[in-house]
Amino acid sequence: MTERATPPTAPLRARAEIDLGALRANVRALRAHASGAALMAVVKSDAYGHGAVRCARAAREAGATWLGTATPEEALALREAGLPGRVMCWLWTPGGPWREAIEADIDVSVSGLWALREAAAAAAAAGVRARVQLKADTGLGRNGCQPGDWPDLVTAALRAQDDGLLTVTGLWSHFACADEPGHPSIAAQLTRFREMVAYAERQGLSPEVRHIANSPATLTLPEARFDLVRTGIALYGIAPSREVGTPADFGLRPVMTLSASLALVKHTPGGHGVSYGHHYVTPGATTLGLVPVGYADGIPRHASGAGPVLVGGKWRTVAGRIAMDQFVVDLGGDEPPVGEDAVLFGPGDRGEPTAEDWAQAAGTIAYEIVTRIGTRVPRVYVDDEADDQADSEVDGEAFR
Ligand SMILES: *Cc1c(COP(=O)(O)O)cnc(C)c1O
Repeated sequence: MTERATPPTAPLRARAEIDLGALRANVRALRAHASGAALMAVVKSDAYGHGAVRCARAAREAGATWLGTATPEEALALREAGLPGRVMCWLWTPGGPWREAIEADIDVSVSGLWALREAAAAAAAAGVRARVQLKADTGLGRNGCQPGDWPDLVTAALRAQDDGLLTVTGLWSHFACADEPGHPSIAAQLTRFREMVAYAERQGLSPEVRHIANSPATLTLPEARFDLVRTGIALYGIAPSREVGTPADFGLRPVMTLSASLALVKHTPGGHGVSYGHHYVTPGATTLGLVPVGYADGIPRHASGAGPVLVGGKWRTVAGRIAMDQFVVDLGGDEPPVGEDAVLFGPGDRGEPTAEDWAQAAGTIAYEIVTRIGTRVPRVYVDDEADDQADSEVDGEAFR
């Protein structure tokens, strides 16, 4: 059953509203794009700032059969919150919590022999078979096993599997440039992936899942879907890049709306410097609004003088520097009441800017904008879809 919305008990300085109904709808849209492949909801880094446990539950309700995290600690936290089913994590360092992860029935990823050894040793100590996925570096040049080292890793994995220490559940890889459709590395990585999978299978591995697609590949590359797609940013309703398209092109809706309550509205004369360094000077007599969020809340300081904010129905621009806890917008003589909503970003269909607009203002990607939103900003969960369902349930039940 879906959870109720959490209404704020008092007016909040700032809030990140998380629309779980939109997240569920995004999962369903992505499953349709994945046409038959299973879906892993990537909820690393607190679900890209949206709240890992709530988002993981909502994603599961909408049919995500896998949950994915970077670190084992993130995966274990999902288990501690009571999330059952398949969970995978992939960013390990020596001495990591292998045993805890294996005992919690989490799929662990290994990219090299040291990691395979640690996983096998932990499985032996725990007396349970580990679920291990072998990660291939098909061209990303980051994590993953190089093609030249793959035979040794496959051989060692087969031996550990025969010894009853582990089961190789997956063979997988990650794209470097899937967000640039048509980039030549994409076809090259797919070819290499097929070769590395075929080699491992010829040697005797029979993985349950083979997977390489992230959000951009899920949306644009049908041939990359294999058995499972790993979607992160698209779950949160954000397009991976402009080249891939807009969220609406794929039936996705942004999940997070970030807003703050104006802390001060005041008249100032012309020629007045604004915020540290006086990089903005009022061009004439005007009104200024104080927005009580800053870089400590994850608002990028690089968007000083550029970030857009919807106040009183109009887009305003950050005036001068974004400080740790606050920034100023020039209201151009308008006098919205103190406490008025200042919407930094949201889905965009109520006239507000989007995370993509902030990414452009800060010279970064929208992934970073949502993921950076700090712990000082409460997440307020809303669930229009559940409310609709509740309403229709009430309607229907009157006749039972
Ligand atoms: C973060 C991550 C993903 C999800 O990427 P998106 O572009 O957000 O869909 C998938 N796989 C791995 C290995 C990742 O680290």
